[in-house]
Amino acid sequence: MSDPKTPPGPLLTVEDLHTEYRVESRVVRAVTEVSFAVARGEIVGLVGESGSGKSATGLSILRLLPPEGRIVRGRVLLDGTDLTKLPDAEMRRVRGGRVAMIFQDPMTSLNPYLRIEEQLAEVGVLHLGLSQKDAIDQAVALLDRVGIPDARRRARGYPHEMSGGMRQRAMIAMALLGKPELLIADEPTTALDVTIQAQILELLRELVQERGLSVILVTHDLGVIAEVADRVLVMYAGRIVETGSARDVLARPEHPYTTALLRSVPQLDQRAGRLESIQGMPPRLDQGLFTECTFAPRCRLVRDACRTAEPPLAPAVAGSPRLRRCILSPDEVAK
Ligand code: ATP
Ligand code: MG
Repeated sequence: MSDPKTPPGPLLTVEDLHTEYRVESRVVRAVTEVSFAVARGEIVGLVGESGSGKSATGLSILRLLPPEGRIVRGRVLLDGTDLTKLPDAEMRRVRGGRVAMIFQDPMTSLNPYLRIEEQLAEVGVLHLGLSQKDAIDQAVALLDRVGIPDARRRARGYPHEMSGGMRQRAMIAMALLGKPELLIADEPTTALDVTIQAQILELLRELVQERGLSVILVTHDLGVIAEVADRVLVMYAGRIVETGSARDVLARPEHPYTTALLRSVPQLDQRAGRLESIQGMPPRLDQGLFTECTFAPRCRLVRDACRTAEPPLAPAVAGSPRLRRCILSPDEVAK
C-alpha cells in the first residue's frame, strides 16, 4: 500500500461537471462540461468575466449551491472519494476541514451575533479537537498573520465593528484555521487594498510551501493569476475555454477570449479609464444548448466554421497539457 499521508494522484479531480440553476421555468446552465485536477501544493487560478461560472464551480465542489442550484452531471473526487455522492453528515466534516472556502461575500459567512474569536475558535474545536483556549490562541495568531492589527482585542469584537477589509481577512483566517488541504478562495482579495492583497497572496504562498496546501483561486484579475498561480483555467459562458501553465497561457494565449481578457488589463503605463473592455456581452445561459462556439459573437477572428458547432476542449498539439476550445491554430490566435 502507498503512504497513507500522501496518496498518489491529484488531490482534487473534477470530471465533466454540469451545474444548473432552475428559476421558475428557466434553466441557467451555469457550468458545462468542466473538468480539471488540482495537485497537492498547487495553486490553480480560475479566471473569467462576471457570470462565467467561477463561483458556481466552487460552490458545486463543496455542495454549497443555493436550493435552486443543482449538479446535474459529473464527479468531484477528493483523493478518489466522490463528494457528489457523500452522505450529508460526511460532507459537513469535509467542509471547513479538508476543504475550506472563502466566499465572495464576507457578510454571508460571519455570524453577526458572535464575537470573532467565538466563531473562529469553533472551527479549531470542531475540526482540530482543540480546547477552547488553544483554539482562541490559534485564531488570534492567524488573525495576526492575515494582518489584523491588535488581533487579540479585535478578536473579542463583533463583525460589525470591523471594516469590510478586516472582515474579509477574518474570513480568510477562519478558512485556514481548520488546516485545510484544499482552499477554494472566491475573489479573496478583490475588496482589499493592494498592500493587504499582496500580504494575503504571500500568506497563501507560504502555506503552499509549509504544508502543501492546494488552492483554487477564483479571480477576474489576471495580475493576481500572474503573481501566484501555477496553472490557470479560463472560463467563459460556464465552460473552460483555455487551460495550461499560468506562465504559458498569459505569455501566449491560444484562445481569442484569453487574448481579449489580457488586452482588457490596464497596462502599467496606462491609467484607469483607458481600460479596454471586451466588445459585446457574454451569451445568455438559459437559452438551451449552443450550436456554435460560445465566443463566436464577440470573437474578432470568427469564421464560418465557428458557427457550425461548439469546439471541444483539446490541445493544439497532440499530447500537450495546454487545452483550448478553438478551431484556430495558436499562430492564428496570436496574430
Ligand atoms: P462573478 O465574477 O460576477 O462572481 P461568476 O463567474 O462567479 O461571476 P456565477 O456566479 O458562477 O459567475 O454565475 C454563473 C451563471 O449562473 C450566471 O449566468 C449567473 O447569472 C447564474 N446564476 C448564479 N447564481 C444564480 C442563482 N442563484 N439563480 C439563477 N442563476 C444564477
Ligand atoms: Mg462569483
